[in-house]
Amino acid sequence: MKFTESERVQQEAEQYILGGVNSPSRSYKAVGGGAPVVMERGDGAYFYDADGNQYIDYLAAYGPIIAGHAHPHITEAINKAAETGILFGTPTKHEVTFAKMLQEAIPSLEKVRFVNSGTEAVMTTIRVARAYTKRDKIIKFAGCYHGHSDLVLVAAGSGPSQLGTPDSAGVPKSVAQEVITVPFNDIESFKEAVNHFSDQIAAVLVEPIVGNFGIVEPVSGFLEAVNDIAHANGSLVIYDEVITAFRFCYGGAQDMLGVKPDLTAFGKIIGGGLPIGAYGGRQDIMEQVAPLGKAYQAGTMAGNPLSMQAGIALLEVIKEEGTYDYLDRLGKQLEDGINALITEYEIPATINRLKGAMTIYFTTEKVTSYEQAENTDGELFARFFKLMLNQGINLAPSKYEAWFITIRHTEEDIKQTLLAVENSFKQLSLV
Ligand code: PMP
Repeated sequence: MKFTESERVQQEAEQYILGGVNSPSRSYKAVGGGAPVVMERGDGAYFYDADGNQYIDYLAAYGPIIAGHAHPHITEAINKAAETGILFGTPTKHEVTFAKMLQEAIPSLEKVRFVNSGTEAVMTTIRVARAYTKRDKIIKFAGCYHGHSDLVLVAAGSGPSQLGTPDSAGVPKSVAQEVITVPFNDIESFKEAVNHFSDQIAAVLVEPIVGNFGIVEPVSGFLEAVNDIAHANGSLVIYDEVITAFRFCYGGAQDMLGVKPDLTAFGKIIGGGLPIGAYGGRQDIMEQVAPLGKAYQAGTMAGNPLSMQAGIALLEVIKEEGTYDYLDRLGKQLEDGINALITEYEIPATINRLKGAMTIYFTTEKVTSYEQAENTDGELFARFFKLMLNQGINLAPSKYEAWFITIRHTEEDIKQTLLAVENSFKQLSLV
């Protein structure tokens, strides 16, 4: 495959756009460098780059494109919205319709607010939790990404009773000191951190199923224990469902797993591919937010008609009977196929999968923690990534990301993907 035009565009991009990309995860730095493929057009499970190469897409734009590219129902909704005015700065009926749909799908959302990104949604839940509890500190889990606001850009790896250090330049130490990081799936460390900081802890921020060091499910009883311990301490539980909501079932991971947070943050999928975020939860907590309360959150673009109508259209599509069984079936076909190839070609790899989301880790150990995910073979992943790319299979360029199957993928696409995996494994196992 030739990438001449992608390389040319990337070179030009670097003259104007810092680093040539508008989000660092798009660069190929983590997979040994090179110009990222410049995409021109998407259609269902496929997209096409500037050189005319076709790919089966498992990136799904890092999650939102669960209905595939350019889904006709969503495209129609966006076109209709564009024709009738894209921004008013006033309330619209679409916000109400969409909020009601979310509330019906996820009953813990007694009240909801729309914002523009997952980052904003998480950042605001933290502010609201602090306002409600009149406490400042937050507990988060190591390796979990919650957007790029100051407070959540704090290094993993600090011991349970240590204060955080900033993970990014520009985050004040004083901010990072308000964050305590503990290992995911480790209830003892969590308990220790809560006991140590007790009445300073405003909230614990949890991804109920981790999506950012691969797909990692909570061990049995973990989320229930987090809830019990946090609540006994007078702290709130915030779920970051930016990846998980509507990913594994129609609703939140919270409904699938039968646990209920006090507040939840959303993004990605719920915008049908347009910029969006949302947060919501218990009525008495949400009442902290202006104009009713003193916690401030606002947005010129918040609840904009385009994102609302795209989100409504997306939910209409995935609400159809059979969506998640279909994703699960294709996911299983992919997982089983790759597992057979792992055995046949003696590749040191293991898979975590839930429904249509999956991660392949280059290690022989089952991955349940960030530490294990960190210790997987990044070089082997980088070679695998490039081999797959060259066969027209587009994955996220990072060993920590998931493969996302969309409702537009077919069994045939999975078969074709497995052929590419086999070819890649053959080349990897020769060395
Ligand atoms: N939370 C989680 C779990 C995420 O995966 C992400 C984005 N990858 C965010 C928050 C931030 O969302 P956004 O990129 O829309 O700001």
